[in-house]
Order: sequence, then structure tokens, then C-alpha cells
Amino acid sequence: MLQITSPATGAVLAELPQDTHESVLAKYQAARAAQPAWAATTLAHRLDCIRRFRALLVQDVEKLAAILTREVGKPIKQSRNEINGLLGRIDFFLDSTEATLQPRQVFDDGGMRERIAHEPLGVIANISAWNYPYFVGSNVFVPALLAGNSVLYKPSEYATLTGIEIGNLLHAAGVPQDVFSVLVGGGRVGIELLKHPVDGVFFTGSYNTGAKIAQAVGSRLAKLQLELGGKDPTYVCEDVDIAAAAASLADGAMYNTGQSCCSVERIYVHQRIHDAFVEAFVKEVGNFKVGDPCVEDSYIGPLTRGAQLKVLEMQVADALAKGARVLTGGHRIDRPGNWFEPTVLVNVNHEMDVMREESFGPIIGIQKVAGDDEAIRLMNDTQYGLTAGVYTRDEARAQRILAQVHTGSVYWNCCDRVSPRLPWSGVGHSGIGLTLSTYGIEAFTRPKAWHLRSP
Ligand code: NAD
Repeated sequence: MLQITSPATGAVLAELPQDTHESVLAKYQAARAAQPAWAATTLAHRLDCIRRFRALLVQDVEKLAAILTREVGKPIKQSRNEINGLLGRIDFFLDSTEATLQPRQVFDDGGMRERIAHEPLGVIANISAWNYPYFVGSNVFVPALLAGNSVLYKPSEYATLTGIEIGNLLHAAGVPQDVFSVLVGGGRVGIELLKHPVDGVFFTGSYNTGAKIAQAVGSRLAKLQLELGGKDPTYVCEDVDIAAAAASLADGAMYNTGQSCCSVERIYVHQRIHDAFVEAFVKEVGNFKVGDPCVEDSYIGPLTRGAQLKVLEMQVADALAKGARVLTGGHRIDRPGNWFEPTVLVNVNHEMDVMREESFGPIIGIQKVAGDDEAIRLMNDTQYGLTAGVYTRDEARAQRILAQVHTGSVYWNCCDRVSPRLPWSGVGHSGIGLTLSTYGIEAFTRPKAWHLRSP
């Protein structure tokens, strides 16, 4: 049985039967058998299903947000934001899929025509994370279903109730049971799923698991996408509005209790404004209400995974041992559940894990830098490469700096942001492949080359 516990209280919320070797095999076989008929439906029909899924999300937003909050500990307003934010992503796919997947004639000399058509990959394994289950799941299953694939969706064991709700809504919206199956369980069920000859593996999660998955499916030559962690830096230049930059970056570091792949994880501040920025930042963090995620005005909730408390404690201890100072926080909160104080560290450097390894919690290191060159060098001094940002009034300066940073996304005067219109991808340990944008629709297809000579 899979036991689901509340991260806020430690209470058991549910116990669910997990998928087994036999049930995973049966779901795989059913998905394989159902896929051709799904691909043979019109795109208009599949778009209608996703449109109905969207309408059901709107209708059930309060119920779904409450489930998400109870299960992962996300503050209730942020749960609502996630579901409402998903509507915009769905709209992008509804508006863009037809034009993106249209067959394209790329050559015609009167005798010979050349055309590119998009065919579905077939059966997709979608193994997902818990921190934004609606976002990271739908980035895969919405375009995958629209393109005519069947999907075996394994939500994280920490977001199973939400995963089951998503399955119920898709089925109610008209997606056949066997075209979208939910697999219940943890890593063991993920391993079981990947034993089957799926045509594509789309994973969101940590680098460590991503690397194991790459090894497990490597020789299979299935299409593989890995959306992994980040150690996302921001550089604050000396010309900014300090209060505004501090407010924006405190939110970028602590929203979702710091558990976003693109949370701001380290900040470099120009030496001329370092002290003033730190003071403003700590003040912002002090205004964040830590508390029961079911209460409307809570901004910081518990960590979803209890094991992460130890990681944060170790990062703080390591930093302190090497000369850092804690300006606020630094400890677990003494109450049932997985609570950690919002934490700000200064006097940090790159000898410390907190500046190079993913924290995934409400903790941030702020480092003083002499200027742009040092900031660029430090921003690139990590294995990860998901996002990076610069705050400055000077767009040309921002462009010059961001062009030298090795990440999938770059931000000027903003942070912790994902757009459905832009590709979401990572460099290095942040992953391979991409979702979102029109590239993230084509990703679920195989381009087929047609060479057509008229008799
Ligand atoms: P995780 O790697 O622990 O688990 C992810 C999924 O993999 C879960 O469903 C889990 O059950 C499954 N799994 C575990 N071991 C497996 C195995 N050996 N084979 C197959 N499946 C296995 O990650 P998590 O804790 O759920 O998520 C947090 C991580 O995800 C962070 O590193 C975060 O940065 C990253 N993330 C990245 C993005 C992105 O878009 N790049 C988005 C969200 C989260």
C-alpha cells in the first residue's frame, strides 16, 4: 500500500494500492492497443477533449486546490494559482497545435514534391514530479494526447491524489481510459514501467533519478526527455531599485516554499549595493507568513518531502563551518510535519554546497561580487543550467551578461517564470530535450519525410 501523509501535520491522509508488475504490464498492453484508434480520431476531436478537460478544471478548481494543498503542503492560494495558470498553458496548446502539426510542403518543382508530416510517437511514459504536478504533468500529457499518443502517467508518490484526479478529469472529458492511464506508486513502479518498450520517456524530477532513467532506457533508443533540477542564479547590478529587486527576488526564492525547479537559489549582488540589498531582502522575507497551508494568508508551508529537511540542515551547517552567517532562519521549525524556517545566508562562497547544489527549500545564499565578470563566472560555476537572471536598468548590459550564461532560459528583471510560448529546457545536469512552445508540441511526434514524384 502507498501511504499518503500530510507534510503539514504528518497525519495519514490515505492508503492506496500500488501498481504491480502485472498491473503495469496490463496498462502498457492496453495503452499500446488503444493508441492507433486514438491517433485515427481527428485532431478536432482530441482538441474538444482537452477543451472539456479545461472546463472541468475551472469547475473543480476549489476542490482540486484543496487536494493539492493537503497532499503536498502548497499554500492554498498558490495551489489555486497553479490550476489557474494551467488554463493559460492549455489555451496555448489549444491555439497552436493545429498549425504546428500541419503537414508542410517544403519543395515542389512540378515533378517532385517534398513534404514533412508529423506522426505520433506511440506510447509515452510520463514520470513526473510533485512540486508542480499540474504544470509539469500537463506540459507532457496535453500535447502528447493532442498529437495522438497514449500516455502512461506516473505521478510522483507525493502527488498521487492529484494524479488520480487528473486522470478522472481527462476520462470525464472523453479521453479513453486506456489512452491515459495513471500508475500509482514510487520509484519501483517507475522502474517497472520503463521495462516495457514505450516509444518515448518524458521525465521530470531530480538529476540523480534522471541519470538512472537515462541508463535504464539508453540501449532501447526510445525518445528520452529529462527535465531536471536547477541551481538558478540571479545577479543584481548596482543601478537597480533596491526595494523592488529585493521584493521580486525574495518572492522568486521563497514562493512554493522554494520548491520550484526555477526558484532563485543563489543571488550575487554588486558590492556597491550589497548591504542595502541584503537588508531589504531580509525585511521582505520577514513579512512572509509561515503557517498552515490550508489558511488563506499562509505564504510558506511545509516541505513536501521530510527527507529534504536533512539536506537543508546539512547545507546550513556546511556554510556556517566555512564562514557564512545566517541572517534569519537556519533551523527546522519545532512542530509536527516538515517545517523549515525561511533562511538567508550571507558571507557565502562557492566552497559551500548551498551555492552549488540544489537546495529545493526556503533557503538562499547571497554573495557579494566586484562586477559583471565575477558574476558571470560564478553564475556558470555549477553543473546545472536551467535558468539565470540579471536585474539592471540597462538592457544592453543585461543582454551582454545573459548571452554568456549557460542556461536554457534567461530573465531580465524577472525570475521564477515559465511561459507556454517559450521552450523550457536545461543545460548540463538540468536535462535534455524540452517542453512548451511549438517545439514542445513537435516533441511528441516523429517527423515523417514524404518524397512524392508525380507520374
Ligand atoms: P525524483 O527524481 O525524486 O522523482 C521524480 C519521479 O521519478 C517520481 O515520480 C518518482 O517516483 C520517480 N522515480 C524515482 N526513482 C525512479 C527510478 N529509478 N526509475 C523511474 N522512476 C523513478 O524528483 P522529485 O523529488 O519528484 O522532484 C524534485 C526534482 O524535480 C527537483 O530536482 C526539481 O528541480 C526537479 N524538477 C524539474 C523541473 C523542470 O522542469 N526542469 C520541474 C519540476 C521539478
